[in-house]
Amino acid sequence: MKDLFPFKCTECGACCSSYGFVYLTTEDRVRLSRHFGLTVAQFTRRYCAKNHSEYHLADPESDCCFLADGKCAVYEARPSQCRTWPLWPENFSGGKIKQSAAADCPALARIMVGDASGKSALNIVQAERRSPPDAFR
Ligand code: SF4
Ligand code: SF4
Repeated sequence: MKDLFPFKCTECGACCSSYGFVYLTTEDRVRLSRHFGLTVAQFTRRYCAKNHSEYHLADPESDCCFLADGKCAVYEARPSQCRTWPLWPENFSGGKIKQSAAADCPALARIMVGDASGKSALNIVQAERRSPPDAFR
């Protein structure tokens, strides 16, 4: 994966800060529950809210509740959404990284010069969506 798309997170924490919904799949809630030694119901009550029937981490108006000292405190168990960011289809257009996406993510900005073909990037995104999220580790 890293050979195909030279993305290297700078761990700046920008994508975990301020406003933003972190949606949770059922697998995410199960994995995070285990991480905390809670039942899924306990984890959901403590950390989740619902938007149009989709679970997300509570309080999307502020920094992620799992952001601690600029790092993800649940990194090994982090949600799929976090594992796949920023390689989301909406961050690419015409096979290229969008300027707006690069503005949000310094690691994307670094590779925006075109050393990764957008087509490859989109293929990776699609493969990632079909496969276990651990592929981004
Ligand atoms: S904004 Fe980009 S570089 Fe910064 S932590 Fe998120 S993925 Fe990594
Ligand atoms: S769960 Fe971790 S990676 Fe995801 S937004 Fe929160 S702090 Fe960032």
